[in-house]
Amino acid sequence: MRRIIRKITSYFIPPKKPTVPVYGDEPLILTRDEHNISRSDLDKAALDVLYGFKRSGHDAHLVGGCVRDLLLGLEPKDFDIVTDAEPDEVKQVFKQRCQLIGRRFRLAHVRFGRLVIEVATFRGQGEGQGSTERKDRFGRNGKFSGAAREVDDAGRLVRDNVYGTMEEDAWRRDFTVNALYYNIKDFTIVDYTGGLDDIDAGQMRLIGDPETRYREDPVRMIRAVRFAAKLGFKIEKYTEAPMVKMASLLRDVSHARMFEEVLKLFHSGVAVQVFEKLRHYHMFEHLFPLTDQILSEEQDGFPRMLVIEALKSTDSRIRQGKTVNPSFLFAALLWEPMLQRKNEHLDSGMHHQDALFAAANDVIEQQIKCTAIPKRFTAQIREIWSYQYRLPNRQGDRAQKLREHPRFRAAYDFMGIRVAAGETELQEVFDWWTLYQEKDAVEQVAFANAVERPERSKKPRKNRNFYRKRSQTNRSQTNE
Ligand code: ATP
Ligand code: MG
Repeated sequence: MRRIIRKITSYFIPPKKPTVPVYGDEPLILTRDEHNISRSDLDKAALDVLYGFKRSGHDAHLVGGCVRDLLLGLEPKDFDIVTDAEPDEVKQVFKQRCQLIGRRFRLAHVRFGRLVIEVATFRGQGEGQGSTERKDRFGRNGKFSGAAREVDDAGRLVRDNVYGTMEEDAWRRDFTVNALYYNIKDFTIVDYTGGLDDIDAGQMRLIGDPETRYREDPVRMIRAVRFAAKLGFKIEKYTEAPMVKMASLLRDVSHARMFEEVLKLFHSGVAVQVFEKLRHYHMFEHLFPLTDQILSEEQDGFPRMLVIEALKSTDSRIRQGKTVNPSFLFAALLWEPMLQRKNEHLDSGMHHQDALFAAANDVIEQQIKCTAIPKRFTAQIREIWSYQYRLPNRQGDRAQKLREHPRFRAAYDFMGIRVAAGETELQEVFDWWTLYQEKDAVEQVAFANAVERPERSKKPRKNRNFYRKRSQTNRSQTNE
């Protein structure tokens, strides 16, 4: 009987709500023996900078992704350091090693050989939490430094150079798991915002009111997606709730920054998951509107497969420590829109070469309204595309000329993903090039001389209706 009563009462006791820290709470501090980060995990240059500050009497902490990743047993991408020294003081500590950069966020770059360590000064809050204590907390002399903090009419943060305390610095960061500090003085980990609990719970939680924080900087939405994919975390429900509604704000982000962010998204090693999530939260349509439109019209899943195959190949190269090329990524993401445009130009009577050129121009022109694409990459994208039509014409000494072109390898890999995505008619040409590359110079000549000239009927016009034909075939198969 007693057991039953206990059972019933425990059933009716509401579960204890996890308490989320608020500004002003004492931080949670993990001592050295309570966490797994050891100095041997740290980059030598980062340690040199930390100790440089320590010797000169300044506070210095590792912060952001490196602390998060080390706690999770992952290898950090870079080491960010934050200090109470203002940029000019950082310059005094590191002299000619140090270069001050940035207007929106003034930062110091400290150089050790080829390595550059980014050093930021603790940023203050501006508005919101802690505002009653602003006078004491802004800068050590109670003054604003540099061009201070500025939010434009749309709520976007256009400048953030108000210096503050470590606690303020923590609360203006994006996610709780990115706001953990490793203190070089005593090797403790300091957590103001609940990041350690969120690491345990495996979730990305935005610090502060999500809508305000996304309005300040819409890039935080895609950062949520990137980290969730990379860490295998979920996005906490309040952090997730406004994402779809606010995704269109991504259109207002500077195109140059968007290009950099797109590279971080798709060169993260988890591009496939990132892509799925971007589609899920309706963000992809603001990054690649032309591609998104084609995906929504997709037939038999075919166009989508090409994008997925390209992302899979990018992920696997990154996992193997190989280099990845932004132009390959953009060529793959924009290939279907380019083909569609090209077919329209062909229908209007244009010659193949002109249609390809015009379609490439159209698509690139549209895309740079969302993400910049630096000129050197647009040139490479065009080459990868035009090589798709040149690789089949490999007879005689053409083969060697094609092989020697700097974009050959990317174009060959690109053809590989087309084959993997289902364009089986390209298999033969692709396999031929695979074999060609395995041969020595003498064998290559004989191999290329043995190729027959391609028949006219095999030229790109046949390609035009490829998707249509495929879908018709599949439809008739399913109807049977
Ligand atoms: P990774 O380097 O692995 O991509 P990261 O978290 O270190 O991840 P960075 O872009 O290097 O990301 O930024 C370093 C830190 O700066 C972040 O961890 C976060 O604390 C802060 N930060 C970066 N971008 C923003 C932002 N848009 N808004 C607020 N804080 C940010
Ligand atoms: Mg980082």
